[in-house]
Amino acid sequence: MSQIDSFDFSGKRALIRVDFNVPLNDALEVRDDTRIVRAVPTIQRVLNAGGSVILMSHLGRPKDGPEDKFSLRHVVSALEAAIGRSVQFASDCVGDDTLAQAKALKPGEVLLLENLRFHGAEKKGDEGFAQQLAALGDVYINDAFGTAHRAHASTTVVAKFMPTKMFGYLMEAEVKNGQKVLDHAEHPYTAIIGGAKVSSKIEVITNLLPKVDNLIIGGGMAYTFIKAQGGSIGTSLVENDYLDTALEILAAAEKQNVQVLLPEDSVVATAFSNDVDTKVVDSNAIEAGWMGLDVGPKAIEAYRSVIASSKTILWNGPLGVFEMSNFEAGTRALGDMIAASDAYSLVGGGDSVAAVKKFGIADKVSYVSTGGGALLELLEGKTLPGVHAIQG
Ligand code: AMP
Repeated sequence: MSQIDSFDFSGKRALIRVDFNVPLNDALEVRDDTRIVRAVPTIQRVLNAGGSVILMSHLGRPKDGPEDKFSLRHVVSALEAAIGRSVQFASDCVGDDTLAQAKALKPGEVLLLENLRFHGAEKKGDEGFAQQLAALGDVYINDAFGTAHRAHASTTVVAKFMPTKMFGYLMEAEVKNGQKVLDHAEHPYTAIIGGAKVSSKIEVITNLLPKVDNLIIGGGMAYTFIKAQGGSIGTSLVENDYLDTALEILAAAEKQNVQVLLPEDSVVATAFSNDVDTKVVDSNAIEAGWMGLDVGPKAIEAYRSVIASSKTILWNGPLGVFEMSNFEAGTRALGDMIAASDAYSLVGGGDSVAAVKKFGIADKVSYVSTGGGALLELLEGKTLPGVHAIQG
């Protein structure tokens, strides 16, 4: 049983770091409440056990102090709808008034604090600021995986000043599922790494190579590998500073008996647009003036048997520009294959999560991570400060 399940919250104020960094529309209403909904089990656990809840989060990237468009006030009604209770709001996250509001909370009540990042001290991990936050509650719960890779006041430093600290359910699930693909994967194990840039995924690939059996490389980053091997890639995305790195990765993969699948063919276009001519060509023979924007049908066929025989699948990054209908086929087909497989599957990273949602398969994979940068750092094998602050 985890600590959050066994702890007696009765009469206690739980200070919970959540990730309510949600997208807002032009009317400043919550456009996607996924992150709020994912925090509900932790909030309900405390309330149902007779505790009260103080929620703290950041929203967006305010520069110098308060800005209305980044106020967490805009999140109150979506939060009330998600938990089915009224929510009090504190117009600052620290200070005497906020402390008084926190201390006045009765069991079953919820207080949402204003954006932590209205104070520069939050990102600096300032100890005095963290102490002021700590004074608001009796126990600290971190349920914000999305910021667990940051050593900020509310995600890490505050834990020093709280005698009792624990993960919320979301954090617990993220860490558990991350550990599964890092340390307890069943074989055959296939990792699919896509997205725009090799440079942002090198450490992930390097850390995964000793663990996986197959590595599918797709998306814009595939063309750096293809060029490095002497292919012609036209005007496809390329990072010329990483050609050597790409060759080193391929050599390391070979040495470690990892099968690497680069796309044999690509859907190419004359511009980064959904309204131009497209055709399918071999990925290493893309003519001048054409760019690869999706993996082609031969590439997709090659994935089929690999995915079908895998027992563990990790997917980070789309295989093409799935936001445009002409270049979504590869990402969609891969998503369908993963959805149909019996393997344990973890999908993570902002864009792959958007892709599984777009293609309606979010419920058909084993776990969808909420972490972008945090998941990448976990997959790189790093210890996340927010996790360390709780686990020690
Ligand atoms: P990342 O943030 O590095 O995971 O990259 C995700 C983005 O990569 C998505 O917005 C995709 O549209 C984009 N992407 C995927 N494949 C390609 C490609 N072949 N060329 C350019 N961009 C791509």
